[in-house]
Amino acid sequence: MSTETLTPARIQAFTADDFSPPQAFLDFCDNGGKPLNGVIGGKPVPGSMNGAIDVINPGTKEVLARVSEMGYDEVNQAVESGYRAYHGGWKNTSVDERAALVLKLVELFERDKDVFMACEIINGGKVSELAEGDMGVVRGSAEYFVDVARNTKFGDSEVMSVRDDLNAYTYLEPWGVVAGIIPWNYPVVLTAWFMMPALMAGNCIIIKPSEETPLSALYFAKLAEEAGFPDGVINVLPGRGELTGKFISEHPGIRYISFTGSPGVGQAILRAADKHGTRVKREMGGNGSAIVCADADPELVARMIGRNVNQHYGQTCSTIHRVFAEKTIFDDFLGASEAFFKDLVIGNQAEKGTQLGPVINSRQPQRILDGIAYAKANGAEPILEGEPASVPGCDGYYLKPTLLRSPTWSNANPQEVFHAFVNVQPVDSVEQALQCANNTLYGLGSSVWTKDLELGQRIAKQFRDGTGQVNCHNTVADGIPYAGQGISGGPGGGVSCADTLRDYLQTKAIYVAEYPE
Ligand code: NAD
Repeated sequence: MSTETLTPARIQAFTADDFSPPQAFLDFCDNGGKPLNGVIGGKPVPGSMNGAIDVINPGTKEVLARVSEMGYDEVNQAVESGYRAYHGGWKNTSVDERAALVLKLVELFERDKDVFMACEIINGGKVSELAEGDMGVVRGSAEYFVDVARNTKFGDSEVMSVRDDLNAYTYLEPWGVVAGIIPWNYPVVLTAWFMMPALMAGNCIIIKPSEETPLSALYFAKLAEEAGFPDGVINVLPGRGELTGKFISEHPGIRYISFTGSPGVGQAILRAADKHGTRVKREMGGNGSAIVCADADPELVARMIGRNVNQHYGQTCSTIHRVFAEKTIFDDFLGASEAFFKDLVIGNQAEKGTQLGPVINSRQPQRILDGIAYAKANGAEPILEGEPASVPGCDGYYLKPTLLRSPTWSNANPQEVFHAFVNVQPVDSVEQALQCANNTLYGLGSSVWTKDLELGQRIAKQFRDGTGQVNCHNTVADGIPYAGQGISGGPGGGVSCADTLRDYLQTKAIYVAEYPE
């Protein structure tokens, strides 16, 4: 751990550099004036529904590309093409063969990193500092799952004698065709988190990107072909959730679905898939909390929490929306938080200095304003009101940050409000803070901020969340599961850990008895 002294002034919100999309991104989006197609069996497919979705820059509302929407027929085709590829050879590839292709894909990804940066910044609305961090996840995830796969014993286990005339062993194999349904907010990271373990386990995959940010998955498919993946191993089906996503969750040929997104949609997918026995893993939304202990430096911690709250403008699944600060430092903490949020530079995400860019689409501002109105109706007092903001020359979806103060025990924001939105409550003690923090149906990630690392770890273990953090937040690491509890996740072993690879494998029990004489 670093022993360098951190001063409040050194802690800034994630910030943009100037960014211009490369010509390769513009050409990819233009696609000769035609909508971008889905990719099935290595071929571009326009889609039988004859529908196309506008993909926009949320900072300007400019249409960047049109993307064909995949219907029921294309879901069928993708499943068939996945099975052809699986039984036609992919299921018999060695871990080393799969690793060579996955690592080649990563090499091409890094060569064309600026195209993926454009997907995240220009289409996803992110600032470059955060988008740059996302890029590093792809190699890390690939290398981690190559390593896990190399240390996994696929196929037959040791044989166990059950009786004199009966032996048993287990047989570990991929599911066959699996699908990943991806949300809009971290498309590169979340596509990699699905794709790397699913492929290294030996499956053929269908990626269903979000209708808001489908470009990086489609570009991954282009690179997969260049990397030499056999046709049908990686298929991409863009389209709306209620159509393409629904057809995927209702298709019995898909043996496993990895869903990342909101709890309501995850619940619907689980119900739909369960009707025909498709297994599902789910990583869903959060309503993260932070506990600020009396021994913490209020200014320093307010800025660190503020940076996390504002990561992708609060559109990060595990970010902090609820803070419980001990009464002795409450006023100083709130004052420092107000200063942090008031100073955020609102602007176009591709312009140097921007710290609070646009929300993703036309529906989000009203949802956020509804969340603020609900909080106010339930006792929250606005310190900073998250009203619409204007950015000169940019007709995008901009909102000011929201800082609320609520009485202890009020439940003013029971739902995830996907914005730079935080509600601060005073508490008498750390124990009371913990009870308030755990008073939620969510359970993704929470943190405690204190100089006392013993106390911090004791509290971190008592959060109901899948991830407990001391003096940090929005933290992930390969080898450590990132998995929600409550309505934030499950079933499944979470992402980025050895159990994740196991999610993409099925274990069969094999019994062998002597032939009766
Ligand atoms: P969303 O649930 O609206 O959509 C996610 C995906 O599901 C999209 O591809 C969408 O097209 C698809 N979909 C929508 N309706 C569907 C249906 N009926 N059947 C099948 N598919 C359907 O989520 P979003 O707005 O894209 O993303 C934001 C949410 O994702 C937030 O709740 C956020 O917290 C969560 N999230 C969680 C994690 C995590 O790792 N836990 C990571 C990122 C985002």
